[in-house]
Amino acid sequence: MSILIISDIHANLAAFQAVLADAEGQWDIIWCLGDLIGYGPNPNECVDLLRQHKHISLSGNHDWAVLGKLDINAFNDDAQTAVRWTQSIITHETRMYLESLPTTLVQEPFTMAHASPRQPVWEYILDTYTAAINFGYFDTPYCLVGHTHVPVLYHQEEDQVVPYRPDYNYSIKFDHLRCIINPGSVGQPRDSDPRAAYALLDPDTLVWEYRRVAYPIAQTQAQMRNFGMPEKLINRLEHGW
Ligand code: ZN
Repeated sequence: MSILIISDIHANLAAFQAVLADAEGQWDIIWCLGDLIGYGPNPNECVDLLRQHKHISLSGNHDWAVLGKLDINAFNDDAQTAVRWTQSIITHETRMYLESLPTTLVQEPFTMAHASPRQPVWEYILDTYTAAINFGYFDTPYCLVGHTHVPVLYHQEEDQVVPYRPDYNYSIKFDHLRCIINPGSVGQPRDSDPRAAYALLDPDTLVWEYRRVAYPIAQTQAQMRNFGMPEKLINRLEHGW
């Protein structure tokens, strides 16, 4: 049994396709941690592609914003523009699917939350302090989150929390230590590495493998330009921020 762990596809079909091709034949089910849409040019195509595979998925803050469940004034101007554009183009079917998604799920021994177990839709776990607080908000040994678009693993070691950046040459075996793990973002990485990020998880042996794969960034950018999306959102993809 192997699980393809993905998050923050953000309507970037080329990135999502690259991840599926790179991991082909190596997984049995997809766990998606939310933000399927927002920012990128292919919201309907990305939702359709996810739904063609056996999967479970969470809803993220951008999914909520497009559905009108979040006040988009909390987003910056470019993100608001992307939300409005996405609202104008998603189909009834895409909307209904997104409406059906939960904000947290528990699949023992994992809790899943898009942003954080404390605030599943909105909080950013970007530092050890915020991670430490969040260890008090889930009951399972491990918690999977997305939202920051930065792959990282926080270990709870006695009275301190220690962050680990991914090493793509080695897999990680979870031990008795609790951890909060972020696979990074498929469609808009923000760790200065523009390649799509994802992970493979074997829930039986508890082995986790961080992965990156290059995708045709220019293809996504050209579509965004065609749709008149903000230059900043287009440019950031090639820089990975
Ligand atoms: Zn996101």
